[in-house]
Amino acid sequence: MTKPNSTRPRPDDLGRRYIRLAHALEAHQPDFIDGYGGPAELADLTLRPTSELLSEAQALHHDVQSETDPTRRTFLDRQVRAMHTLARMLNGEALPYAEEVRGLYDIDPERADLAELDAALRELDTALPGRGSLEEREAAVRSRVTVPLSELMRVSEAILTELRRRTADQYDLPDGENFSFELATNKPWGGYSRPLGNLRSSVAINTDLPVILTGLPDLLAHEVYPGHHAEHAIKEARLVWELGWFEHNIQLINAPEGVITEGIAMNALDAVMTPYEVSDWLTGDLSKVAGIDPDAVREALRLAHIKEQFRGLSGHAAMMLYQDGASQREVLDFFRHYNAATLERAQKSLEFISQPTFRGYIFTYSVGRRLVREAIERGAVTFGQLLSEALTPGALRP
Ligand SMILES: [Zn+2]
Repeated sequence: MTKPNSTRPRPDDLGRRYIRLAHALEAHQPDFIDGYGGPAELADLTLRPTSELLSEAQALHHDVQSETDPTRRTFLDRQVRAMHTLARMLNGEALPYAEEVRGLYDIDPERADLAELDAALRELDTALPGRGSLEEREAAVRSRVTVPLSELMRVSEAILTELRRRTADQYDLPDGENFSFELATNKPWGGYSRPLGNLRSSVAINTDLPVILTGLPDLLAHEVYPGHHAEHAIKEARLVWELGWFEHNIQLINAPEGVITEGIAMNALDAVMTPYEVSDWLTGDLSKVAGIDPDAVREALRLAHIKEQFRGLSGHAAMMLYQDGASQREVLDFFRHYNAATLERAQKSLEFISQPTFRGYIFTYSVGRRLVREAIERGAVTFGQLLSEALTPGALRP
């Protein structure tokens, strides 16, 4: 699958204009681009007037319609529409929040069902042992499965080796894919995977908050195998090098591809392991490597299962903040109440949805997860197709 440098294709007109426009937007909104691995001469970060970017986005959106391959045309249409939406916002247009989310991500923002959250909260209260507040009891369960910082690299490497083996067995991982891995601090995210091009990614996990063993397989499947890194390497080899679709040599954060990539990542662990295998692995080999009591792991897994019901929480909080005009204080209280979170963890959640780059991105996780899961269950798409084809959220909707 991997081709030597000399025979690699060059970007066509659409690919070149797409990459240039993305960089022009990045000059106004840093972090719009997640990663870029294409030709350096197209990465022009000159600050140009936003009105110019607006007309470029319009012209590109028009010209994309004459692309003959329907998969490529649909992908470019949705992605360029997102760039046009961002250009409108940068040009001073104030879009209602729901329209911003729709324009950028091709999905509708969703509120959580508060009655369901209340029921989950009661379930949590029954399930958590001991006395004290929910927050204290949850913290006690988490503290027993916290991976000591000194062991974190060793445990992560053991997990990554197994995840890579399973991913390579089931999916078409290209020869030469690789990633760097490091621990980071002072970040709004829990983990990050930045595509670098040439089948490589730079992966980091954040140690600002304690990293718990029971969350680690999911986190590393999400960021590396078969999540973000695997997806980007497979798409680069197939879509860029084989087909010459250079729009896949760049990853945009505030665009529909974010829904696909997070949808893949949120379902990544399930794609290579059953929940039973994960549980056996955590209570067996991994608790040994990490030096953690398997009973504490079982208890934390029960907690994690209940906590899954709070998945739509951040999206709901974002709608309170940006649609209902709630104050930061109210949103913080909402997080503390439903997340049974310490002030520190609630602040981290608020910090994430307060970043301009992530204020709408939050829905890519909850909505992306659901769209991908339902499309796979319906038989509309396979996980392998999601990893290798240029799909958009619309292609996953019934
Ligand atoms: Zn992610």
